[in-house]
Amino acid sequence: MFNEERHFDQPIRWAMVGGGRGSQIGYSHRNAAQRDGLFKLVAGAFDLDPARCRDFGENLGLEGDRCYANYQEMFEQEAQREDGIQAVSIATPNSTHYAICKAALEANLHVVCEKPITFTTEEAEELKEIAAKNNRVIGVMYGYSGFPMVQQAREMVQRGDLGDIRVINMQFAHGFHNEEYELNDPGLKWRVSPEVSGPTYVLGDIGTHAFYLCEVMTGLEVDRLSCMRQSFIKSRTPLEDNAHVMMEFKGGAVGTLWASAVNSGSMHQQKIRIVGSKASIEWWDEQPNQLHFEVQGEPSRVLERGMGYLHQDAPGVASNRVGGGHAEGYFESWANLYHRFALAFDAADRDDQAELAGIWFPGIDAGIEGVRLCEKCVESADQNAAWVDYE
Ligand code: NAD
Repeated sequence: MFNEERHFDQPIRWAMVGGGRGSQIGYSHRNAAQRDGLFKLVAGAFDLDPARCRDFGENLGLEGDRCYANYQEMFEQEAQREDGIQAVSIATPNSTHYAICKAALEANLHVVCEKPITFTTEEAEELKEIAAKNNRVIGVMYGYSGFPMVQQAREMVQRGDLGDIRVINMQFAHGFHNEEYELNDPGLKWRVSPEVSGPTYVLGDIGTHAFYLCEVMTGLEVDRLSCMRQSFIKSRTPLEDNAHVMMEFKGGAVGTLWASAVNSGSMHQQKIRIVGSKASIEWWDEQPNQLHFEVQGEPSRVLERGMGYLHQDAPGVASNRVGGGHAEGYFESWANLYHRFALAFDAADRDDQAELAGIWFPGIDAGIEGVRLCEKCVESADQNAAWVDYE
């Protein structure tokens, strides 16, 4: 069971850039980071509007002089304090991630960054180099990967419970943007604006989540892919509100990814189905406590979180906060990840590289692969869905 017991003397002094009042994802970060008392929010540059940042920060219980007008000021001022911040989470629109992350690493801070972490793989690789040079850790917020049943799926694939992996079906296809809602929704407006969103919309915004589940569960690497993308809301062009990707993996498996914001009527439909030579598994983020396990020729089974028949000794499978049968959800998955980020940051601070290497969490390599997916999909789509090599 995960709980709030201390792993080190004092909580990590933590700040946020972005995630201000009215933002979509700010609360998720604060809730997850502080759930187990391993992080304490002490500062923030939450908002583009300094007055709103201060008002918001004070309402969260921060001292007014630690609510900063911008991240540059925050990193500079906090570095002067004995009790200055040790880590920062970046929850701003995509175009700002690279510069803020770089500045944070150069200020010797550990970082949790939102995805897609940068616009280009070169930028993401550069962040990896700076982090390595400064012995800092980057966590990337692939928030669905903290679910215990995702880790159970990974373990089942690794142990060969499915046989040889043949087919992977990934999708994250919601219907929330089936009309031009960006006319009245700033959070959607920037997502369909290339200068802020980057080279993609749905591929980066949600496709990267489903793709990361595939990486976690199968460990397979893409060999080449073909992508078709389009916008059914024409004003979103050149960005896509719908995309289909075909993939060939090294070793012979094949897969598809459907990312969409125009799947009318759908809430999330983030599902992954992994088909092996003996059996298949299927997981859905709207029912995250269950994993469907279908062995050819046998009645299908539904594996439940928290049960003794799971691979309990595998990392993350026993990361329960309450027994099976109770509905754990999105916030628990995020909190599990933040718990691991805290352990990783602490291990790095003690320069215990062996311990750090043993802590599973979505890090900079996961971030790089998400960016690469977007890049390669655009490369393919721009050539009329030509097959492109992944490396
Ligand atoms: P949003 O537009 O709702 O909120 C952005 C917030 O950042 C606002 O408070 C804004 O004032 C602030 N901001 C913008 N630029 C800033 C800057 N330079 N300095 C300080 N604050 C700044 O956006 P959102 O939907 O919360 O998305 C933020 C990021 O989180 C995006 O990269 C998005 O892709 C990602 N996201 C991830 C998930 C996930 O599941 N991991 C879910 C939603 C969003």
